Parts: sequence; structure tokens; C-alpha cells
Amino acid sequence: MSDSPKPPLTLADLDGFAVDTISSVGPKKKAALKKLEISSILDLLTYYPRRYIDRTNQTTIADLVIGEEGVILGEVVRCSSRRLQGKRTMITATLSDATGQISLTFFNQHWREKQLQPGTTVVVYGKVSDYKGTKQMSSPGVDLVGDQTGKFVPVYPQSEKVKVSTAELGRWNGLALVKCEPRGFSDPVPAEVLGRWGLVSRGHAFNNIHHPETKEDMVAARNRLVFDELLRVQLELVQRKRHLERTSAGIEHLIDGRLVGEFHRQLPFELTGAQQRAIDEIDKDLQSTKPMHRLLQGDVGAGKTLVAVSALLVAVQGGHQGALMAPTEVLAEQHHLGVTDLLRDFSVADDSNMFGDRPLRVELLTNRVSGAERTKVLADLAAGQVDIVIGTHALIQDKVDFASLGVVVIDEQHRFGVEQRAALRDKNTSGLVPDVLVMTATPIPRTAAMTVYGDLDVSVLDELPPGRTPIKTSWAKGPLDEELVWEQVRSEAAAGRQTFVVCPLIEMSEKLEVRSAEEVYEELQGGQLSQLSLGLLHGRMSSDEKEAVMARFRAGDLDVLVATTVIEVGVDVPNATVMVIVDAGRFGIAQLHQLRGRVGRGQHESYCHLLADEVSSDGEERLEALVSTTDGFVLAEVDLDLRGEGTIMGERQKGQNDLRLASLRRDRAWVERARDVAFELVDSDKGLAEHPELASELPLFLGEVESAFLMKS
Ligand code: ADP
Ligand code: MG
Repeated sequence: MSDSPKPPLTLADLDGFAVDTISSVGPKKKAALKKLEISSILDLLTYYPRRYIDRTNQTTIADLVIGEEGVILGEVVRCSSRRLQGKRTMITATLSDATGQISLTFFNQHWREKQLQPGTTVVVYGKVSDYKGTKQMSSPGVDLVGDQTGKFVPVYPQSEKVKVSTAELGRWNGLALVKCEPRGFSDPVPAEVLGRWGLVSRGHAFNNIHHPETKEDMVAARNRLVFDELLRVQLELVQRKRHLERTSAGIEHLIDGRLVGEFHRQLPFELTGAQQRAIDEIDKDLQSTKPMHRLLQGDVGAGKTLVAVSALLVAVQGGHQGALMAPTEVLAEQHHLGVTDLLRDFSVADDSNMFGDRPLRVELLTNRVSGAERTKVLADLAAGQVDIVIGTHALIQDKVDFASLGVVVIDEQHRFGVEQRAALRDKNTSGLVPDVLVMTATPIPRTAAMTVYGDLDVSVLDELPPGRTPIKTSWAKGPLDEELVWEQVRSEAAAGRQTFVVCPLIEMSEKLEVRSAEEVYEELQGGQLSQLSLGLLHGRMSSDEKEAVMARFRAGDLDVLVATTVIEVGVDVPNATVMVIVDAGRFGIAQLHQLRGRVGRGQHESYCHLLADEVSSDGEERLEALVSTTDGFVLAEVDLDLRGEGTIMGERQKGQNDLRLASLRRDRAWVERARDVAFELVDSDKGLAEHPELASELPLFLGEVESAFLMKS
């Protein structure tokens, strides 16, 4: 009997082979690779090139044309350095191939001598010139290719500290791929899915991501591997979502009770279509036995607060409690003011009372609420005498007891994961999980939402309340433009309206930021705006001082509020019609958009002025984007294009670690495709059980937190 042929290799198999099964990887290199987090063959094959050296245009030295760009492969014959006047150093190297020699010169690049040791093979590219009859390139690009062949030579991410060359990495993964050839690669992605998107096999993909013959092969390989990465992330998120829905019981809320109906009826305006839609979606979740886990995305001023309050009231009218968590104390206070105001005249049923009801109670719980006041709020929360509590994240982390927490709204940019959810579950003695609504302060791009918040359902407020006149945004590029800005501030003040002046953002130093705000304040008060009454607001003021200034501004006692970015979110003064942002080039798109959203909240025409005379080219694109549109969703996409995903994803997403090749920016279409496929697979009759190999791949790439989660399910 002969051995039956071994089955194709799975990624788990590859993860089981240590990297030193490649004979040329000895103990020293093994240790060095470990520093690159490469210890298995799988790690090696998924350590992808950062870029490729394109040798398709390569010629011989003899064929190089003076005055034109050229690419050649040659061997270093000699290399020397020479001191020039004024401490400059010139490195000269001679390169030869079968057809001739060329000289290369570099200035002040001492390390070239070490790099270009005689005998080294390099690819060099640059413009060819003539120096006394010899061909020459001055400061050309140089790539060490070793003895690697191929038209596209992979260049791997390198680090100074790790003694592994890109040529070695290329050689080793080449050897690994040869070893894999007899068994081939197993492919757990259904053939139908591969066919749908024209995806190549895994074998093809691994070979061609490392050693492509053509650009097309390389692109096809990348697409396949990008899809696989995104599919893993989405499978993880979709499974997590379904797991939560399956395993935790939510409260079946009473959605058509008296309170919410009354709340909607007494509003001085109609809900927008988008608000109504979001409320319906949320109600459906609240009514169901599955706990809600939903993201509410909406542009600045789209009216998220109303939607959130509606959800909180659903809890209250069924005899439960609502909690609203804000990212900062200032915002919590702001929300507390707003919500208290909205719910001033409402009452809730109370059998212990001879009237059968009592006023609805909204309380604030932050670190500033202390002593007897705090004790009372805590006691009343536990007794069910407080209906809605507003505070920071501490609300669910600390020892705050609720009688029956029904709905939690998180106004966030924060992490809210499995652990926080568990904390919530503990809040209810019934073991029922409160429903959770997460609100983002500014829109985030679709693909980022799918990845960062991929385990949530999403409602979108893509419509502004009617009657808003769009904010006119302009970019003031110099003193003349600025003069006009201050003139407008004066005339708006004369008409009884108000202005915000936001001072330069100074990262890392609140002290400097405060000083710059004070300077702007004094300059304006002593100059252009000397006839107006100005207030100053910054982060170093005590909460009481801040509140006092805000109160004066709200009351209209101040014409102008000079502030740092503390006013970024939540401040709502409908009478403010002008927003001036000093040194606007320093701000990011989302922040500028958020700041601009502080005006345009009343019925009067509003203006936003971006002051910036010298900006980077990125800054220029940002400011131009702001001038050209007020649509936060459009701006979010521009932001993703300009900054890449890193900053947008922030620290929230752990799944991001798994994305080695995929980019939320470049691969938008693939994110959506992978998500669709993930739902198809997870929601099919047998779910992922039908795709055990695919399921087994997830823990190979996911961080500890994720695998811990998978173990639990
Ligand atoms: P954001 O989405 O930025 O949190 P808010 O909830 O603060 O927006 O709402 C912004 C302003 O719009 C508030 O003054 C609010 O009263 C008002 N508003 C909300 N919904 C409507 C509506 N349907 N019609 C008119 N004004 C509305
Ligand atoms: Mg529910």
C-alpha cells in the first residue's frame, strides 16, 4: 500500500511549520526573524512586500541615453569618499555590467560607502548625464537586489535593528513556496465566491504577491489576499454580532406608550424623514427580545439628540431607566442642560404617590457631583426614582446601581466592546441586557463604519432639519481678507447676532494653546473688535468659570466668544451666526466641520471663515474641501483619502491589526464585498460550521481579545 497523497496545505498547517524548516534559516536568522514577528512559514508568506523594484524598463549601461532616465542592474566595482569644501562629502562609485561602466555620485551620504561595497549587485535608476566622456548618474535611486531575478523584485519592510535583508526574505519565501508546491494550497473560500469576483487561487496569490512576473499578476494576487483579510475581519464581526444577538436576552420595550408620543407631539417642529426612519429602526430593535447594538451616524446638526432622547424615553415609559454617556464632563453637563430642558414638563407613572405620577427626573452624575448630592443621586438611581442619568463612561464602570437600566446611549468616539457589554449586563439584576445606541459626533466613511463598527447595526441621519440656510464658508488667505471677516463680525453684532472665534490648535501643549487664545482675545479686544463685548473660554479655566462665560454668551451678553477647541462639540447657541477659525490649516477636516457646525443652528444665514495664509498642500486640500461642501459624509471620504485609515480608525479597532495589505481607502469595494459574503456564510443554514477551515483561520490572525471572544462562543 502506498502512502495516500497528503491533502493541500491549510493556513493552519503553514502556521505549524517553524520558519527554520527552510534549511538556509539558521538559529541566528531565526532569532532575527522573530523580531519581525516571523516564526512560522505562514508568518513568512504573509510578510508582504512594501513595494516592488520595477525592472521592466531595465536596460544595459551601453544602451543608456544621456539626458534620459534609465534603470540598470550592475555590480559595484569600487566606491570611495572624498571631502569637499565646507564639510561636504562626495561618494563616488563605479558600476559595471557586461556592456560597460557608469559612475555614480552622491553628496553627504556617508552610509553609501557601506552599502555599495565592491561585489554588491544593485539596481540603480536615475537621470543619465555625461561627465568628461563617462556616463554618470547623480544621486540615483539604489536598490539592493542581491541575486534575485524577476521583473518585479519585492522590497520588504525593513528595520535597522534586524539583520535580515530584503533579498533574504525574498529568497526564503521563494524557497517556502517551492516546498509548498507538491501539496498545493487548500482553498476554504467557496468557489462560487471566488468566481463572483474573479479571484485567483491562494497558491497563485502567494506566489505572485512575492514574485510577480507582470503587474497584472501582482494586482490579482493582491486582490485575493486583500479579500481574504477583509473576509476574516468581517466574519469575526458578523459572528460577534450574531453571537450577541443569540446569547443575550434584551428587554422587550413598550414602544407605543404615552411618554414618547407626547414628546413627539409637543416638539415645535416636525421630525425629519431621516429622524423618523432612525427612530423606527431603533424602536424595532427596542421592541425585540434581542438587545439593540446600533450606531447612529449623523452629520453635525442633523438632530441626533432628539433621536437619542426618544430612545431613552422608550425605556422610561416602560418603567425602566435610561443612561446617556458623554466622552467628557463638559459634554455631559451640556447634554444634561439640553435634555433637562427638553423634558421639563413630563411626568412618569408612580404608584407610591397619591397622584399616581411624579415629574420625570433627569440627573447629572460626573465627578463634579459630590458629597450628599452624589449620595442622593446614587440612592435614587438604585431605587428607580431617577429616570434618566447623564454622565461620563464612569456611569457603567463604577459602582453605580440601577433599579432597571433599559437603554444606554453612548455619545462617543470611545471603545465600547465585549467587556463593557458585560458590565452592562451586570447592571440589571434581571440578567437582561440594556439596549445600546452609539452615536458618533461626526460621520465616518462607510467602509470605516463597516470595519470599525462592523458588529453594530447602523442608522444614518443624512438629512438636515428644514429651514437651515447652508453655512457660507470662505477661506481668508491674508490681511485684506481678514479685514473683511472682522467687518462682518461687527455688522452681525450690530444686527444682534454672535460670533465664535476659535484659536489655533496647539498639539501637546494646552498651556501654549491657552496663551494663544489669550493673545487673540487681547488683540481683538484692543483692535478690530474694540467696540464689542468679548468673552474668553479655554481648558485651563475652572468648570464654574467656563460655565459662567458660556451662560453670558448664551444669554447674549457677549457678542463674541474667543475660545480654544473646548467648544468643538455640543455647544448649541442658535443666535451665533459667525464662526471664525484662526490658523485653520492646523485643524483636521472632521474638527473643522465639527466647529463649523456650531453655527447655522438658527434661522439666520451663517458664515464660517477659515483664516490661514500659509498652509501645507494637504492643508490646502482640507480647506478647499471645507469650502466646497457642507456634507459631512462627503468630507469624511475626503478625509479618508487624505489621511488614510490609521487616524480614522484611531485606537478603537483591534481588527485593524489584521489588515496587512488591505486599505479601507484603496479597497472600499472589497470591504463591502467581504461584508456581504460574511453575512451570507454566517447566516446560511449551518453557518460557519459548514466552513470549518475558514473558521479555523480566524484565530490565526486575530489578536488575543478576539480569540478570547471566539473561545467563549
Ligand atoms: P447633532 O446631530 O449635531 O447632535 P442636535 O441634536 O444638537 O444635532 O440638533 C441640532 C439642532 O437642531 C437643535 O437645536 C435641535 O433642536 C434642532 N432640531 C433637531 N431636529 C429638528 C427638526 N426635525 N426640525 C427642526 N429643528 C430640529
Ligand atoms: Mg430590545
